[in-house]
Amino acid sequence: MERTYIESDTAAIAKEILSLLAPNNAGATVVAVEGDLGAGKTTLTKALAHELGVAETVVSPTFVIAKFYPTNHASFDTLVHMDAYRIESLDELGPLGWETVLQQPRTLVIVEWPEKISDAIPEDHYHFAISHDGDQRSISRKK
Ligand code: ADP
Ligand code: MG
Repeated sequence: MERTYIESDTAAIAKEILSLLAPNNAGATVVAVEGDLGAGKTTLTKALAHELGVAETVVSPTFVIAKFYPTNHASFDTLVHMDAYRIESLDELGPLGWETVLQQPRTLVIVEWPEKISDAIPEDHYHFAISHDGDQRSISRKK
């Protein structure tokens, strides 16, 4: 997948990403979204949340690191939105219950700043990178 898009296309990008995910039955399905500040990682996560039927307003979890939302979707019951920007050490993942989250099937985990916790991301995950130039965004699948 490789797409250039403007903000109003984000819903279509989210739909495309959801359609290519094969939900993991043995644990959480993990999607890493890489990109600079302002690239559109949170904007995309909000669109994914909308597609999953999340009723709550999704806000950037920068200060709380991870937020959990119940979904209304055939394959996923829970969306976990993780923003690893402020994580300095993998030790900080313990109190968040990261290992437990990763063991939960029917859970979609979106990780912003995955490079901060790369050693704690399961080998079997999806990885997208967003780059930006003005209002144009390009998203490509890396893994
Ligand atoms: P990140 O989480 O990657 O730091 P955000 O999603 O919080 O980025 O912010 C992206 C910003 O860029 C928002 O202010 C959004 O309105 C703006 N924007 C402009 N064009 C786009 C686009 N094509 N896709 C996503 N966001 C866009
Ligand atoms: Mg963000």
